[in-house]
Amino acid sequence: MERQVIIITGASKGIGREIAKTLAQEGHIIIANYNKSKQKANELKAELEKQGKNIEIFQADISKQEECKKLVKFTLEKYKKIDGLINNAGIDKIQQIEDVTKKDWETIINTNLYSAFCMCQEVTPNMIHNKKGWIINISSIWGQVGASMETVYSISKAGMDVMTKSLAKELGPSGIRVNSISPGIIDTDMNSALTKKELDEIKQEILLNKIGNPTDIAKCVKWLIEDTYTTGQIISINGGWVIT
Ligand code: NAP
Repeated sequence: MERQVIIITGASKGIGREIAKTLAQEGHIIIANYNKSKQKANELKAELEKQGKNIEIFQADISKQEECKKLVKFTLEKYKKIDGLINNAGIDKIQQIEDVTKKDWETIINTNLYSAFCMCQEVTPNMIHNKKGWIINISSIWGQVGASMETVYSISKAGMDVMTKSLAKELGPSGIRVNSISPGIIDTDMNSALTKKELDEIKQEILLNKIGNPTDIAKCVKWLIEDTYTTGQIISINGGWVIT
């Protein structure tokens, strides 16, 4: 497969980090964005470079439009093209609706949704010019079915999924595929507050009786990149926890 230039937001930890490793192993050039976890990003770079893989790390708070612009500008100046974008960076905050402040709303929506919108705006001119490219949005099952105490998070992920459908329609004629991968529960820091008892209870609700692993998502990304005929889809990977 042709070597692609791929931006991954939030690649310092969890799902994004695993996607970066998987795609680097495939020989692609990875632009791994991070925000606060500088040491983890440096470790990822060192690990992959030791294996002879191509990786750049780039600090940017992608909740801010100007920082999305910087990330894309850096990539285009250095590599002249962008083949793929993975909007993965995200945060969650579990709280009742009455406790949600305007600041909470802005932080979650800007980090999970506005960032993805801005990144799409920045990369699409180059993709349209090249008449090819792909975007993968990492959303969540809560965007499809809603989650109690995670209303803002669920709204942000539902927004991502409808953005996927809208952009697939708008960009398909330019040869650009846009899809969402919608995970269930995956073993990352995002769920570190859950107790063993809570995790066991969740497991019992999952048909395959296990918590997902970041590799489950990375494998789907790898497949989706190689595919040439899937666009506008929300691909749920949740062990059968939710069947929509
Ligand atoms: P994680 O381990 O907490 O990692 C989150 C990543 O997002 C980190 O690399 C973090 O970077 C980055 N990030 C957060 N805010 C950022 C910002 N303002 N600018 C740039 N990067 C930022 O979480 P994860 O589980 O891997 O989550 C990855 C994605 O999967 C998220 O969109 C999440 O909603 C989605 N998801 C996760 C699950 C799950 O169960 N884990 C389920 C469904 C969907 P720094 O640490 O460098 O700041």
